[in-house]
Amino acid sequence: MEIEGLPNLKLEQAFELTDATAERSCAGCTIKLSPETVAEYIRSNVALLKNMAARGYQDARTILRRVAKMEAWLANPVLLEADADAEYAEIIEIDLNQIKEPIVAAPNDPDNVKLLSEVAGDLVQEVFIGSCMTNIGHYRAAAKVLEAQPAVSGRLWICPPTRMDESQLRQEGVYETFEAVKARTEMPGCSLCMGNQARVEDGTTVFSTSTRNFNNRMGKDARVYLGSAELAAACALLGRIPTVEEYTAIVADKLNPFADDLYRYLNFDQIAGFEDEGRVIPLEEMPRIEDILGMPTAASR
Ligand code: SF4
Repeated sequence: MEIEGLPNLKLEQAFELTDATAERSCAGCTIKLSPETVAEYIRSNVALLKNMAARGYQDARTILRRVAKMEAWLANPVLLEADADAEYAEIIEIDLNQIKEPIVAAPNDPDNVKLLSEVAGDLVQEVFIGSCMTNIGHYRAAAKVLEAQPAVSGRLWICPPTRMDESQLRQEGVYETFEAVKARTEMPGCSLCMGNQARVEDGTTVFSTSTRNFNNRMGKDARVYLGSAELAAACALLGRIPTVEEYTAIVADKLNPFADDLYRYLNFDQIAGFEDEGRVIPLEEMPRIEDILGMPTAASR
């Protein structure tokens, strides 16, 4: 599948779309982004890889060879594009302006798609905010919805996809909100999405941000809705799926005014001193990229 029309999505946001195409039985997916968007992500990734090499990840030469290729791309950022005369089995146009309310996948099939107004009021006993479909911004947003609220009535599972996300969210104090509402915080990873590391109660109704709601995947006879982290947090707050009016009010009061701060991603190149954080290999002992490649690099020229 090829997706285009949203060139300025951040990589983390674009990944939600490409990741979800597995549910369309896609063997692969590309999304057309602007060179600036991709360069922002690559710069961050270069800093991450350099930090991994500094912390002793092996093989440093392999990691730094990749860094050199990425820096060469940054010096001349050209992206692959679909052929102008490519033929497609089908072209689907979606006008996002026509989407006026959240859309969810209702129990128990990712294709059982409904508008929020069609499912509002259904009681929800467990909420899962996690899986590879989520990114750090979702957890900040969920916490904002839950801030200064009493403990949730049902079970709320919080499971960021990576330990880096978890650590950053803890540093920012976001976990304090989750703990205050008595959420159950899980070790980062797949957790309930996989359904073999943790399970919901038998026969329960769940609202989940994960990828699939096939029968019995999350728990025996569980009824599972799939939707956004923001809507999931609202479900946890109310113990039921909110009405469109309730949800719109939450977004207007708690999310929109703080959007720039909530939906920030981990740009490692912008974290002061990150490349040296946790260094165990002295700088002078690091393999030099020029020596690995046997030639000057884009960065050293
Ligand atoms: S099981 Fe893990 S990798 Fe697979 S879809 Fe769920 S979170 Fe993603």
